[in-house]
Amino acid sequence: METLVQKIRDIFWGQPSENGNGMAPAMRITVQCDCGEQISTRIEKAYELQEQYLQASDNDKDKPPAIAGYLLRKELVGNCCQNPVRVIVHFDAERCPADHSIEGGEWVSAEECL
Ligand SMILES: [Zn+2]
Repeated sequence: METLVQKIRDIFWGQPSENGNGMAPAMRITVQCDCGEQISTRIEKAYELQEQYLQASDNDKDKPPAIAGYLLRKELVGNCCQNPVRVIVHFDAERCPADHSIEGGEWVSAEECL
């Protein structure tokens, strides 16, 4: 059976890799603080995403809960000021970013990276 990690790898790399070293999917998120400074941060998807579970119905209590998606909360602070830029990113069950919200700045980009 294909594991979730293999599935994710398939999505990003097209095929499973022989060498798993350093292949963990990550993201680079860039925001712009209200003061104008751009701040980038690297997200390790494997460690920083919180799992969001579907609510199990009463009939399904014996089954393990299904993953509905993932949530990332991040505070970024630049060098020019002390104001934090708060980012919340929602991911779907395949760990693809689906939606985001931001406070204290503007969203610039989010890209997959090694
Ligand atoms: Zn700032």
